[in-house]
Amino acid sequence: MEATLAKVGFSEIRSDRLSLCETPAWCFLLSVKALILEAMKSSALRMSTLFVRTLREDPADADVDSARLLQRAGYIRKAAPGIWTWLPLGLRVLNKVEDIIREEINAIGAQEVHFPALLPREPYEATHRWEEYGDNIFRLKDRHGADYLLAPTHEEVFTLLVKDMYSSYKDLPVTLYQIQTKYRDEFRPRAGLVRGREFVMKDAYSFTLDQEGLQEAYQNERTAYERIFQRLGLKYVIVHAVSGPMGGSESEEFLAPLAIGEDTFALAPSGKAWNVEALTTPEVEDIDCSGIPEMTALETPDSRTIDQLVSQSNALHHRKNGEDWTAADTLKNLIIAVKRTEDENHDMPWREIVAIGLPGDRQVDMKRLEAQFAPYEIEEATEEDLKAHPEFIKGYIGPMVLGPQARAKEEISEPVRYLMDAHVARGSQWITGGDRDGMHIFNAVYGRDFEADGTVEAVAVRQGDMSPDGSGPLSFERGVEIGQVFQLGLKYSKALDLQVLDQNGKAVPVWMGCYGIGVSRVLACIAESHHDEKGLAWPLAIAPAQVHVLATGKKEEAFQAAEKVVAELEERDIEVIYDDRPKVSPGVKFKDAELLGMPLIAIAGRDTIDNGTIEIRNRDGSESISVPVDEAAQTIANRIAALA
Ligand code: ATP
Ligand code: MG
Repeated sequence: MEATLAKVGFSEIRSDRLSLCETPAWCFLLSVKALILEAMKSSALRMSTLFVRTLREDPADADVDSARLLQRAGYIRKAAPGIWTWLPLGLRVLNKVEDIIREEINAIGAQEVHFPALLPREPYEATHRWEEYGDNIFRLKDRHGADYLLAPTHEEVFTLLVKDMYSSYKDLPVTLYQIQTKYRDEFRPRAGLVRGREFVMKDAYSFTLDQEGLQEAYQNERTAYERIFQRLGLKYVIVHAVSGPMGGSESEEFLAPLAIGEDTFALAPSGKAWNVEALTTPEVEDIDCSGIPEMTALETPDSRTIDQLVSQSNALHHRKNGEDWTAADTLKNLIIAVKRTEDENHDMPWREIVAIGLPGDRQVDMKRLEAQFAPYEIEEATEEDLKAHPEFIKGYIGPMVLGPQARAKEEISEPVRYLMDAHVARGSQWITGGDRDGMHIFNAVYGRDFEADGTVEAVAVRQGDMSPDGSGPLSFERGVEIGQVFQLGLKYSKALDLQVLDQNGKAVPVWMGCYGIGVSRVLACIAESHHDEKGLAWPLAIAPAQVHVLATGKKEEAFQAAEKVVAELEERDIEVIYDDRPKVSPGVKFKDAELLGMPLIAIAGRDTIDNGTIEIRNRDGSESISVPVDEAAQTIANRIAALA
């Protein structure tokens, strides 16, 4: 059986027997799924039999609106922290989100496959990610003691699959993708589906012969993402990102601007946005320092901290213009260690001590700073590091013992590199360390009295800092990462030896890109941005049904009228939730309809009996009209067309 399937290209049976992932087989499974879904579509979801139980009370630990409402409305149930069960209504929405993603990704020529979530250790070992992912990976052993993992993402096995099957430039370009369950043992699962430990991701991988091909594939995917989020009715910003542990160079994140987000992004007046870690400071203009007096070393006893320095300076050394000194007048020098534990070639580990100059009124952002030194790690220098440099007087370290100044002094045996924060202008005047206990230098001018070896992005950016494109001051907003596109370059193809023969018969590594969308997270973000105090309010494209029909009251006529409208809607292929529950009060039915959140609500009740009409409301409260029963289905169809 396996052999036959493999022969006709239906399955890629790997030696570990874990992988059923070739395209025709997956297409076949998807067609079967589509047929089943199609068959399900034709019958209304009747509230009397639908597997749903709405909750009047908020679940105790729901920390955001989407988690609260998705549980109250019976879309999902908690199985364990960060692990969720999908109920029929939730699954319908998830399927619709997946279908929109699938359509747009198929439209750019990518082909869908499906990998197992359970994978062997070896490929992840080869790329060092088995260790690098740290505690975030679920690792397990099989009965024979072999190591496995539940994949947090699938770069390695996609790379190996292409390596298994392709060997020539003629095979490229190719983009493969899957929509599949991922596992990450997140330290703090939160916000329901937003940060789960099991979640659904769409992950695509492009394979091209050269960098231009990669850029084209990247652009295609990026454009498809824009179409996807537009169709899903989800606001997004695209931010320039740093690529983190994935490696690679160019990367952008798609963020949904939502207050519940854990990411802060910076927005320029031009509309461009950046991940905070990726912000660069435009070059600051030189300041004219011709009127600044010579630098002088002055006593500043007990001034190891910036606060102490400022108060001592004000007490002992009044400023000429009568104004007080502030922290912004001081330049502090931070000593860090840049280290490599072990690199790809297993070279010796090393540690370099580096000094960073930055204004005293600003905080260091270690994450931004780390991004500058990537792939190496950084940490604050230890007591031992400082001891190895007798020229460093703790609390009084100044530029004169750092970088170019240090190299000019014979007595300093191991001068350290000195990098200046990019906000510090040449020609600016500072109070800074005097390299003697209780001493600081006043009127020290950067570029006149001391130099640095280069600039670095060290400080935490703040409201009002100039934007990288120079279009004006930055502002900051919160967002949730819903997708990311990476130009991986050659990282994985080199680590796993994916090569093809080029036009000249020479073996060359393949250029790769990878592109993720958090499918279940996207669903949560849509719920987060489409609800009110009464409940969910789905956009038409992904609502479990387009209309929610209610039969209210005790009279049979209202139920008959509702049945008739439901039947006519189904004839028009409109998806309906029908509240046919007998002996449930109109109040409960209204509340449930508002909680469940279909875009249109149609009500058969007292008015139907008195006037022969059905009331049709938009869930968002924008419109409400009454129409004769016979016209109801057509009116609803028109409304749906207008919403689409
Ligand atoms: P985050 O910074 O939020 O942890 P990430 O950058 O580590 O995300 P990627 O590796 O880029 O995530 O994964 C691709 C997409 O998968 C993300 O853009 C996000 O939408 C989604 N995603 C990542 N982690 C989770 C999670 N724990 N729960 C739900 N979705 C997630
Ligand atoms: Mg990401």
